[in-house]
Amino acid sequence: MTAWCRIRGDAGPVVAARQNGHLQPARAGGRSVADLHPFIRGELGVADVTFGAPIAPSDAELLAPMGSFPRNIFCIGKNYREHALEFTTSGFDSSGTAAEDLIPTAPIVFSKPFTSVIGPGDLIDPHPHLTSMLDYEAELAIVIGRGGRDIALADALDHVFGYTIVNDVTARDRQRHHRQWLLGKGMDTFCPMGPAVVTADEVDLASTVVECRVNGELRQKAPVADLIFDVPTLIRDLSAGMTLVPGDVIATGTPAGVGIGFDPPRFLRSGDEVAATIEPIGTLTNRIG
Ligand code: MG
Repeated sequence: MTAWCRIRGDAGPVVAARQNGHLQPARAGGRSVADLHPFIRGELGVADVTFGAPIAPSDAELLAPMGSFPRNIFCIGKNYREHALEFTTSGFDSSGTAAEDLIPTAPIVFSKPFTSVIGPGDLIDPHPHLTSMLDYEAELAIVIGRGGRDIALADALDHVFGYTIVNDVTARDRQRHHRQWLLGKGMDTFCPMGPAVVTADEVDLASTVVECRVNGELRQKAPVADLIFDVPTLIRDLSAGMTLVPGDVIATGTPAGVGIGFDPPRFLRSGDEVAATIEPIGTLTNRIG
């Protein structure tokens, strides 16, 4: 029943609950809690911690809600119909352009190295020596709580700790050139995450909407209900024969309205601000360095 953030404290990162717009540092056993993993693993709950004095968001530096990851971030490609169409018709999709590839018949899974994760407010490195086609993708991301393998559809949501926002930043030229997507999407700073992980009981997937603004202009807006492969299906398919572990993150895919969806494409430039909003998680804002 909580929105968990991580903020920079005097002695390192501190987990804080966001309540009524303020951040309240969590303490367990007389000490601050440095990372969200004890909560994700179920070793700590709200009842096990005490909260320090509220801090105004303007007085806190938000960090990515998790400080470490068990492995790379799982990502789903082309998981909204309108985005699948805009991507395939843009000419940047070298993974398959036949008619039968337009709308996937099974989840397309790739990953972003965890070294690409940055927090709210951190600068996205435009890597100008490597790409001139920088793009944004606002996405709802699942944080796995209880791990498991061969998870049944009916049990899938029981394995969700909560949800956060990921911006699946992409170098479109590298994505196209290398065919596999990891290099174009895995560069350092290409995985902004946050501002919070909101526990699953506070997120109603039936009414959740993904929005993305670039310099204040609304570019993406779609309900999560439009996902081709929904959250339970993704957990079932990813866990088939492969154990999911606590703290795994699954970015569920981006809606239509990315830069290559425009003609001509509208790529990001230094100084641009990308703001991805999913309530009740909040808004993840990052600027291009
Ligand atoms: Mg994506």
